[in-house]
Parts: sequence; C-alpha cells; structure tokens
Amino acid sequence: MIFADYHTHTIMSHGKCTPREVAEAAIGAGLSCVAISEHAPSMSYGLSASRFCELKREIALLNREYAGKIKVLFGVEANFIGNGMLDIPEGIDFDLVTAGYHRSIPLKNAFAVSAFVQSFTPFSSVAKNTDEIIKTLRNYPQVRILAHPNEYIPLDIKRIATECAKLGILMEINNKHVSMSVEDLHISAECGAKFVIGSDGHTAAQMCRFEAATARAKAAGVLDLVENARI
Ligand SMILES: [Zn+2]
Ligand SMILES: [Zn+2]
Repeated sequence: MIFADYHTHTIMSHGKCTPREVAEAAIGAGLSCVAISEHAPSMSYGLSASRFCELKREIALLNREYAGKIKVLFGVEANFIGNGMLDIPEGIDFDLVTAGYHRSIPLKNAFAVSAFVQSFTPFSSVAKNTDEIIKTLRNYPQVRILAHPNEYIPLDIKRIATECAKLGILMEINNKHVSMSVEDLHISAECGAKFVIGSDGHTAAQMCRFEAATARAKAAGVLDLVENARI
C-alpha cells in the first residue's frame, strides 16, 4: 500500500545498511522509489559536502544498475540549527530535502540549547519552538517534508500544519518515531495538511517498514491524505 520510502539512512552516517542494501530492501518491499536522506553536517555522524557528493555518485550508479526496478533519490535530512537556519550543504543539488529537529546539533544558540533541554526534561517552550520551525521553513522553499513533527520538542501542531499546508510541505508520519498522535493528525488534516509515511530505516530490520506509521494513519482516518499510500 505504501509505494515509496522517502526516509532512509546508510552506513555513510550512523546507519547499518549500504546504499545498495537500501535499494535492494526497497525492491524487496515492492516499492517503486526510495530516498536515501542522509544526515546533514552539523551532527557528528552527518555527511560533509564531499561525502554527499560521493553518495550522489553511488546513487547514480545504482539508478543505472536498477533501472526499471527502483528509483533511488538523493536526499538530505537537514537539521533545524536555530536562527531560522538549516544545515543544508551549499552547492549540492538534492532530489529531496527533508528537515527535522535532532538534539545532537551543536548548542550554539538559544534555540539549540533550549531544544536540547526540552528533549530531556518536562520543560517545554511550545510557542518559541513553533516560531523557530515556521521561520526556518519559510526560509527554505526547497524543503518538501517535515520529519517527525513533535519528536524531541513539542510544537503547536495547528500552527505547524497550517504553515505546512500553505508551503506545500508534507508532515511525516515516521515509523521509527511515531511522533504525531491521532489527535495531532486530526488537527493537521483539518488545517489542510498532507502527510507522508517514512520508515526512517537505519537497519535492515527497519528499512522500508511502515506498520506502526500506517496503523497510526489508519486510526486517525487520514490514510487518504498520505501522499505515498495507494488506497
Ligand atoms: Zn530524523
Ligand atoms: Zn532520519
């Protein structure tokens, strides 16, 4: 029912599969498209610009070899690093840009420090988190997917969904971090947002698996709003 996985990682960051193994897992799962969306450079295991170029070359070879079987997209999962910025390496042409908050970013500004604290404690700063995410998404029109909204830091889902709907950004229902509740999905759908299901596969066992995310989408009755679901 899911025909594409737009969220996977490889041994080039901290995953366990090679890009070839990701392509083969996607074929095995009956998908027509898979994105390798590697972590961006501000994380310790993120890829430098030159490593991204290496990955791009490898993906081009895989696309030649597996033509007609699977389309592999060259993606990045960029980080919200504060001050309205993402850490997308300059001068690289990605097929797909995803953005997500991760707590292992450098603690160089108020947002990064506050978000880090929030990810470990009950303290939360929903309005400020939401302001930062919206400001950043407006700065980067190339972003197509907001990865695991509400994971690590709480957001005002109504404001985020309204903005995603306006900007044409898909809200991800992530299979590894099922971060949006049924209620979050209802609110988002009411705001006109659309969704995408991603495995966030880091290992062979997680690669191109969607059970938890699909179950959550079904429970909320929003499967028809999931762009990569065929129903
Ligand atoms: Zn992520
Ligand atoms: Zn990821």
